[in-house]
Amino acid sequence: MRRLVLPDGSNIPVIGQGTWRMGERAGERAAEVAALRAGLDLGLTLIDTAEMYGDGGAEAVTGDAIAGRRDEVYLVSKVLPQNASRTGTIRACEQSLKRLKTERIDLYLLHWRGSHPLAETLAAFLDLQRQGKIGSFGVSNFDPGDMAEWLALAGAEATQTNQVLYNVTARGIEFDLLPLQVTRKIPVMSYCPLAQGDLAAMNALVPIARRHNATVAQVMLAWVIRTPHVFAVPKSRNPARLRENAAAADLNLTQQDLAEIDAIFPPPRESRPLEMV
Ligand code: NAP
Repeated sequence: MRRLVLPDGSNIPVIGQGTWRMGERAGERAAEVAALRAGLDLGLTLIDTAEMYGDGGAEAVTGDAIAGRRDEVYLVSKVLPQNASRTGTIRACEQSLKRLKTERIDLYLLHWRGSHPLAETLAAFLDLQRQGKIGSFGVSNFDPGDMAEWLALAGAEATQTNQVLYNVTARGIEFDLLPLQVTRKIPVMSYCPLAQGDLAAMNALVPIARRHNATVAQVMLAWVIRTPHVFAVPKSRNPARLRENAAAADLNLTQQDLAEIDAIFPPPRESRPLEMV
């Protein structure tokens, strides 16, 4: 598995595992835990979760999946904006740690910007870091304006990532946010790299996939991580798809492939509002 080094020196796989929609149904819990563990076996050792997913259920599933394997995992979770006051962030993190059954979240993100002042959230992140409850911090769904405001705060220069929607059909960040993050050396974490599994809409990518003896999903993932500045967290609870997703890290798209993808899904020519799901 190809790897990427975050600003804090953490060495992470370029493809990890998402957990949205996990932890919502008790009857599926065992299968979800098994899927995450199978993903770890395949090298998908970055797990992205959030207090929001399944109202804490996804963190609980993640906690079960990493039990006895904590050292293998780079663990990412997120605080909801409504909890992101100075004291609320700390409380939320402590509750997440309990559900995750661990002493430390490696990377803790503000899920999206809400009404609490960014300086308060940042102060809480720095407190949590001093206390060893989080390794590092970052943000999610921040547009270039949010990012500029955040990065102007003292201490925010240690931001590790901004997790945003990025896939072949959602390329807006290439115009302004991605260049800003490249300049500031803050990698982008792509969410929904598979456009939430809507692969029927991607038939135009089939010829490229065929040339590589790969699947359309693999082409989509390889495309998202085609530069050293982006890593991705596709979600799957299907072992065969997890294997596919892990193998996509080794798929190198050619200039011809990239040009064809540009023709099908053109890059942005002007600034667009940040897309979110
Ligand atoms: P996604 O990863 O783009 O797509 C997931 C869907 O694709 C699932 O339905 C999955 O079904 C299917 N899938 C996975 N691998 C596949 C493959 N190889 N072939 C065909 N289908 C495949 O969408 P997502 O889960 O919404 O996003 C990924 C993660 O990003 C989330 O789980 C979450 O951790 C994070 N996220 C963050 C935010 C944010 O606001 N920060 C927002 C959305 C998502 P199966 O499970 O049945 O395989």
